[in-house]
Amino acid sequence: MSGRHYLETLLGLLYPTKRFCISCHTAVPEINHDRTDEPSLCSDCKNGLLPIEPPYCQLCGRHLQESGRCPECERDTAFVLSRSYGAYRGVLRDLLHRFKFSREAELLSVLGPCLREAWDRHMAHFPIDLLVPVPVHPKRLQERGYNQAERLVHFLTSYTRTPWHPVLQRTLHMKGQVTRTRQERLQALLDAYSLHPDAKELIQDKTILLVDDIYTTGSTAEACAKVLKAAGAAQVYVLTVAR
Ligand SMILES: [Zn+2]
Ligand SMILES: [Zn+2]
Repeated sequence: MSGRHYLETLLGLLYPTKRFCISCHTAVPEINHDRTDEPSLCSDCKNGLLPIEPPYCQLCGRHLQESGRCPECERDTAFVLSRSYGAYRGVLRDLLHRFKFSREAELLSVLGPCLREAWDRHMAHFPIDLLVPVPVHPKRLQERGYNQAERLVHFLTSYTRTPWHPVLQRTLHMKGQVTRTRQERLQALLDAYSLHPDAKELIQDKTILLVDDIYTTGSTAEACAKVLKAAGAAQVYVLTVAR
């Protein structure tokens, strides 16, 4: 049991009727005792979530001073555009880090609604046919026991009623990245994803939404979108919790 998890368990034993902020552990006032789906975040931490405000980079969704493309997006991509709920800083960064490495189910009660909000704001008006989680390597899956992107997809699909399928697989474990050039890193990443052998029909001419926890350089999104497009997908959009 991790130190933080231990603390939460202890607080729960000492104060069984109280709820605690999942981020800073202060007591959260119960607004409605009948509702168990209230996000377990205090108002201070909620204010620390920093949703990305417009104008956005047309391609990667980062906040810009004026609409257009950011310097990193002066290129063609296999995906149409990427959008995220919030900035990968502060509270959101802390929660996403824990989401990746711990099994705390409660984290999804905060991160899921963030993704849902980003869907409503950025994706609901696109004709998305299929949700696809970015896969993790089988070895990492074995270590952790879950794919965090898949947990986000489960949450989203129960809201949007859009079908989902894990059509992508991660085949290679990347290592020695430090010595590689950017071009070599990208190529290695392209080789690391492939389509599940029986998934080709599922994605034919489909508009796909690729879902992940974090968008960093866009290389993962690009690699996955390339595989999907090459196998027959019509269009690929990308949605993440943070960037
Ligand atoms: Zn808090
Ligand atoms: Zn950009």
